[in-house]
Amino acid sequence: MSRVGIDHLTKVYDDDGQAIVAVDDFDIEIQDGEFLVLVGPSGCGKSTTLRCIAGLESVTKGEIILDGDSVTQKKPMDRDMAMVFQSYALYPHMTARENMAFGLKMTTDMSSDEISAKVEETAEMMGISELLEKKPGELSGGQQQRVALGRAIVRDPKVFLMDEPLSNLDAKLRTTMRTELQNLQQQLGVTTVYVTHDQTEAMTMGDRIAILNKGELQQIGTPLECYHQPKNQFVAGFVGSPSMNFITASRHGGTLDHEEFAYQLSGDLAMELPDDHDELVLGIRPEDIELADESTRNTITATANVVEPTGDVSYVYIELGDQTITASVSGDTIVRDGEQLQLQFPESKLHLFDVETGDAIRNREAPVDEDELTLDQ
Ligand code: ADP
Repeated sequence: MSRVGIDHLTKVYDDDGQAIVAVDDFDIEIQDGEFLVLVGPSGCGKSTTLRCIAGLESVTKGEIILDGDSVTQKKPMDRDMAMVFQSYALYPHMTARENMAFGLKMTTDMSSDEISAKVEETAEMMGISELLEKKPGELSGGQQQRVALGRAIVRDPKVFLMDEPLSNLDAKLRTTMRTELQNLQQQLGVTTVYVTHDQTEAMTMGDRIAILNKGELQQIGTPLECYHQPKNQFVAGFVGSPSMNFITASRHGGTLDHEEFAYQLSGDLAMELPDDHDELVLGIRPEDIELADESTRNTITATANVVEPTGDVSYVYIELGDQTITASVSGDTIVRDGEQLQLQFPESKLHLFDVETGDAIRNREAPVDEDELTLDQ
């Protein structure tokens, strides 16, 4: 059992007399065996949070709890957590075997035979046995990162803490390592906190993702919850690529008015909306914009500015008044630069946000889970 509690964590740095709030009252509970991803833009406090969990940074306020006990005052080596860094941090003069054995030698009373057996067993599980006698300088980036992971795994820690471990690898290797790491974590069942600025990595790897901005937790949930039911405009814009489109419109009764269109809300949705919003931010994901014909309700006429084919999908950048919105259409659909388009924003896919606070007022309808439908019927 290894549950990690981050209990109202606040970290303030003193930068030449100026207080920098890196983490602000961050409060979550990470379940046993969970793969939790901390994600957010650069400078949002991800690494600081991870370093506070590891004990590499003192906390200003709050507690770090491991299995119900506070470890806030414990030294990093007494927390039973293993950290993996972006930079691999292997000792250059030691072989992979010595690097993997080092932590065990320093922190346990295992005999050298026992350590050897443990290192070899882990290396075999990770498919790196043939690298054991090599030094880091003789290994590729991917191999070094496997050794660094092996060094963490061999210690049998209660928790893995990973700080952007894949960001030094090229794109293709990163994708392979992503799957490898996920499989490994599932196989070992070790609670993992993983930091990344890359939303795709977060979406594909995390059991849950915690999205931070300016030191504050914005939302925690499964990747699809955060994608379909964002709590605010920041989450909506951060999760998903290309990003959700945001269009400010003024509301007159059941109509959203924009200089380029008037969107008539259905009676049900118009009733649902609070009365006190004269302006709203309408959110629509690129993949939810549909090409329509003039007979469709609520069509929006706009001009395709640039079309970017990627093969399976094409991104169409569309001029709408003084802003550019993005639509992604199937690669089979031919759209030409400069073409006039009739667009449709299906109401079931529409998000609405408070123009001032950015809070979600209405999210798209949750997608139907086909499996559940079959089970229920
Ligand atoms: P992230 O990992 O999300 O990129 P960090 O946790 O590294 O963000 O940093 C959060 C904020 O704290 C940033 O504004 C950063 O400049 C500041 N910060 C981080 N470390 C220090 C430090 N040692 N001294 C002063 N400010 C720091």
